[in-house]
Amino acid sequence: MSRFPVKALLASTAALTIASANPAFADPLTPPEYVDYAVKLLGDSISYKTVEGAGNTVAYANYLAGLLRKAGFSADDITVEPMEGTAILIARYKGTGEKKPILLSAHMDVVSANPEDWTRDPFTMVHENGYFYGRGTSDNKFGLTMLMTTLVRLKAEGFQPNRDIILALSGDEETHMKTTAALAERLKGADIVLNADGGGGSIDEEGKPVAFYMQGAEKTYADFEITFTNPGGHSSLPRPDNAIYDLANAALKISKYKFPVQWNDITLESFRQTGAQTAGELGEAMIAFSKNPKDKKAIKIISEQPSLVGQLGTTCVATMLEGGHAQNALPQRAMMNVNCRIFPGVKVEDVQATLAEVIDNPDVQIVLAEDASSSDASPLREDVTGALRKALDRRFPGLPIVPQMSAGATDSVHFRAHGMDSYGVAGLFMKASDEYAHGLNERVPDDAVDGALDHWHTLLTTLAGE
Ligand SMILES: [Zn+2]
Repeated sequence: MSRFPVKALLASTAALTIASANPAFADPLTPPEYVDYAVKLLGDSISYKTVEGAGNTVAYANYLAGLLRKAGFSADDITVEPMEGTAILIARYKGTGEKKPILLSAHMDVVSANPEDWTRDPFTMVHENGYFYGRGTSDNKFGLTMLMTTLVRLKAEGFQPNRDIILALSGDEETHMKTTAALAERLKGADIVLNADGGGGSIDEEGKPVAFYMQGAEKTYADFEITFTNPGGHSSLPRPDNAIYDLANAALKISKYKFPVQWNDITLESFRQTGAQTAGELGEAMIAFSKNPKDKKAIKIISEQPSLVGQLGTTCVATMLEGGHAQNALPQRAMMNVNCRIFPGVKVEDVQATLAEVIDNPDVQIVLAEDASSSDASPLREDVTGALRKALDRRFPGLPIVPQMSAGATDSVHFRAHGMDSYGVAGLFMKASDEYAHGLNERVPDDAVDGALDHWHTLLTTLAGE
């Protein structure tokens, strides 16, 4: 997952910064026993090494299922199923059925981590300097832990939801998302998906909250292998037809092509709000675009920003190259990888067709490297933003809620593809300089647990309780 729409440049001052005793987090909102419960669960979760191929996810899912049974979930309402070398967990908190279910989404797997490269063992949670360190502390075992702990707390409080709340944990979000696809297929028909692996709050380096990002759309990730083949021959006998020249021409054409400008509710609202906080010409352009997405001058200014151009439509860029087999032979094959980030609602095959048109050479072969699933943007829903408003006002009254379209991908892409409105609404507030998801020495501030638990408690009691 990527929490921040514009990734701040990270200084390489990894550990040993100050974090705790942040005044913004001074008043506890959650009964301390649930904060303790969450910290214990997070630590246990880190010790299950749920990287691809390690085969630990079934055991982890069974451990989580045990906790849910202990909290009062009936065994019949919990499913743990081994799948694709990993596992899924589905747990249903039964409601009165007045409304269609809410799905809570998180993933059990983590990106691999090489202990030799880490300062501390990545699979033992270490509490130090005001942080919890370990692989998955932020992505996504923090979010998973918040969901689990909140469900346990709601059971203990005797909360009776007006709709089923279904915990849906995937086991290969970081790799193939086959378990996610299966979950989305099985659980389709839910009204709302709340994803703990997207969105979240940002705080500046002084500890002041800046904004809450609600992820409501994501671009589709797709790699196309573009290949030219040729009979080849001896390089002392050159001919005009040449696989490398063909490929070079194709690359130049792609470099010059711009996909049409697109927009949706999420990107327009995002430009409106971020524009207001951005100085100068760029800020003005963002606001102008939010009012009129056909404004050519605004489009030009925004598209010159690498961090923003992807918000204006589909982008494709050459990323890898290979070709030829000997210094003294005409190349028989030349290939490049073109990586595309496809705007929500656009079909992968349409992008492939556009690339073929742009290259305009009948000899080209374009192959989609791995199945990519595309999805529409979710609408901005008042019930969801209203619940978020309520949750955030308990901590940071009036803090802006900025909708976000991320460059992808989270489990939400599959839920959206099955027609379910899906929102990344993680309760974690972090500084950009603490953001080490997927990286070395991944960590979360220890004082983030209390507020994140309150966040989920408010969201669920609001969306399933009134
Ligand atoms: Zn994640």
